[in-house]
This record gives sequence, C-alpha cells and structure tokens, in this order.
Amino acid sequence: KYAEKWTEVDHYLVHHLVESDPVLKQVLENNHQAGLPAHDVAPNQGKLLAMFVQMTGAQKVLEIGTLGAYSTIWMARALPASGSVITLEADPHHARVAQTNIELAGLQDKITLHTGAASDTLPSLVAHAPFDLIFIDADKPNNPLYLEWALKLSKPGTLIIGDNVVRDGEVADPHSDDARVQGVRRFIEMIEKEPRLSATALQTVGSKGWDGFVLARVTG
Ligand code: SAM
Repeated sequence: KYAEKWTEVDHYLVHHLVESDPVLKQVLENNHQAGLPAHDVAPNQGKLLAMFVQMTGAQKVLEIGTLGAYSTIWMARALPASGSVITLEADPHHARVAQTNIELAGLQDKITLHTGAASDTLPSLVAHAPFDLIFIDADKPNNPLYLEWALKLSKPGTLIIGDNVVRDGEVADPHSDDARVQGVRRFIEMIEKEPRLSATALQTVGSKGWDGFVLARVTG
C-alpha cells in the first residue's frame, strides 16, 4: 500500500538533492540491458555512500558485491586523487558488465575488480589492508564471514557498512527459514558481541522497498 508513495518520495528527493549524472544513468541502463538484477543501491543511497567516503576521509575502500559497479562508481568518485576502491564480484557476467561501466566512468585507475567468490579473494587483500571503509553487499548468508574479514582488514576508525539488513522486516523473525535472514541476524549479533565495534542500524523505505543498513565503526 505504501510502496508507491515511497517511490514517489524517493523521486522527489532525488530530483532535488541528487545530481543527475549521464554516466550513472548509462551504467543502470547497461546493467538492465545485460540482464543484471536491479539490486544496485538507489541514487540517494549511492550518494549517501559517497558522503560516508568523504566524511570519513577514506583513502582505501573495499566493497564486497559489485554487481554492475553502480555503488562502486559512487564511492570511487568521492575519493581523493590518491584514493582507491577494491571491489569483489563472484559472477563473471556481472564482473564483465561492471568492468565496462568502470571504464565508461573513466575510473579504471581507481577501481580494481577481483572476480571470484569473496571467500576466495578476501585472503589476497591482507597486503592492501587496512581499509578505511568497507561496504558489505553480497550474498547475505556469508555476512558473518565477511564481518570476520572486515575486522581483519580494518584499523581503528574504519567504517563497516552492511546493506539489506531489514529485508521487509523479516530480520526480526528468529524462526525465519530464509538463509539470507539468518545470515543477517548472525551478522548483527556478531557486531553486538564484538568489543571492537560500535554500531547502529537504520530502516529505510523508498524505491528499493523496505530495507536498511548497519553502520559499524571500529573503535579499537
Ligand atoms: N553493491 C552493488 C550496488 O549497489 O550497485 C550491488 C551488489 S548486489 C546486491 C550483490 C552482488 O554480490 C551480486 O552481483 C552477486 O553476484 C554478488 N555475489 C554473490 N555472492 C558472492 C560471493 N560469494 N562473492 C562475491 N560476490 C558475490
């Protein structure tokens, strides 16, 4: 009942506050043409990620779950000249589309895309650590593993962001038989118990439905 209204409000907010950009528009079009699922963050969320990059003064960003590199491009553009993003994608088709989009945006020197399951590619990133901002947005059942890696690859001050943690409200159901919900629940409960993290989470509604994200700051 509310979904149409949420989308209408998102359009209003994006129209007034999020600059329309031909490259990002083309990226979404390319993703659509290539048959990628429309699981990219919304434009106002992309800008929020960019603002987090700027507010934290991040130089090194890690993203788990590239899809067509829409969020990757938002974050890379917000970095200083010396900044860089490493992004991990398991699906070779998604990765090919993403690489085309990264080149379209002229960001091939700033963004390094690793193709393969993140569980296989994460160990190779120890040499690039610590990251200043880590965006976890891949297969949700593996969120607990990604949190462990995020902690290994972080330093005090690192901001860890986890997307899609509300899942139409399902996250509050301890008996859910959805492995993604259970992955997110374990992720949240691991954050709760981790003394090195200070965290909060927000529910969001909008063009992407009812969902939300976790923000966890490494404190020590
Ligand atoms: N961050 C992207 C954006 O906002 O534009 C959206 C990412 S989409 C929600 C999740 C992506 O994670 C998909 O492209 C999927 O193929 C990828 N993925 C799924 N399992 C993965 C894994 N084990 N390792 C790395 N990537 C994975």
